[in-house]
Amino acid sequence: MLGAVNDREYIRKNIEEVKERVKRAAFKSGRTAEDITVIAVTKTLGVDRVISAVAGGINNLGENRVQELVEKYPLVNMDCSWHLIGHLQTNKVKYIIDKVAMIHSLDRIELAEEIQKRAERIGKTVDALVQVNVAGEETKFGIRPEETLAFMKKLSGYKNIRVRGLMTVAPHVENVEEVRPVFKGLRKILVDIMRENIDNINMDFLSMGMSNDYEVAIEEGANIVRIGTAIFGARQYKG
Ligand SMILES: *Cc1c(COP(=O)(O)O)cnc(C)c1O
Repeated sequence: MLGAVNDREYIRKNIEEVKERVKRAAFKSGRTAEDITVIAVTKTLGVDRVISAVAGGINNLGENRVQELVEKYPLVNMDCSWHLIGHLQTNKVKYIIDKVAMIHSLDRIELAEEIQKRAERIGKTVDALVQVNVAGEETKFGIRPEETLAFMKKLSGYKNIRVRGLMTVAPHVENVEEVRPVFKGLRKILVDIMRENIDNINMDFLSMGMSNDYEVAIEEGANIVRIGTAIFGARQYKG
């Protein structure tokens, strides 16, 4: 095991490397590093490493489980924003509504109902991305591509939810070129929805790309990437 100091240094170096690669990929697609938000995905990791990431230059943290977000949130007293990036159960919205900057996994109308209710109650407008299951994988959450536009039209009426764009989790593949069409596909859905000019529906964010495919995602238009392993090393799941 690495000691605490080395661990912090390891994370800092990884963040530097990720940022360098983000910059290159952004440049390839006619943008700059400032156009891309890197979310450090801290699921399964202890608070010490979350703090190391923020100290190492990260301002956005992503958790895919409500319980972990709620546990770490009060312990990371630093300048950073939290993102809920995993499947969100309706009955857990109340625990995170006051804590998150953005919900990336809005994928059904019952969830929108609950977010609206809870957000209104605390006088907040919540930024959200609609999760799309572009590749149609049965194991993945997200709305079907062909249902996205109709879903957006329904979301338009929720005053305490500000839709900001789309999110997807691409299939895990050996050759990252295989997922390029998935990223292209999400971008196309985004552009098509943008053209509709739906009230209260903004399409300024594309959250796609993880450790093994974020450069391809950025080349295809991502401006939010969610990165765990490339920053922290392989996750250790407790049996
Ligand atoms: C775990 C996770 C990530 C990060 O995965 P890595 O491959 O470790 O970068 C990104 N997005 C979601 C939704 C995740 O659950």
